Amino acid sequence: MNDRQDQLILAVHVRGLDGMCAGCRAWWSRLTPYPCWQVDWATSREARTVTARFLEGVR
Ligand SMILES: [Zn+2]
Repeated sequence: MNDRQDQLILAVHVRGLDGMCAGCRAWWSRLTPYPCWQVDWATSREARTVTARFLEGVR
């Protein structure tokens, strides 16, 4: 679990033309409405990291 993995997830799980997640379909042949839970997971992790860095800088 690191930032690079988050970036990979966000790079793969992109919105398809039909509004479904292209990454889920390509990797798992699943039709998942975008954003899928993996995008949610990666972005929420990212948000926490940014917040932590921000607090770190304030201190
Ligand atoms: Zn996905």
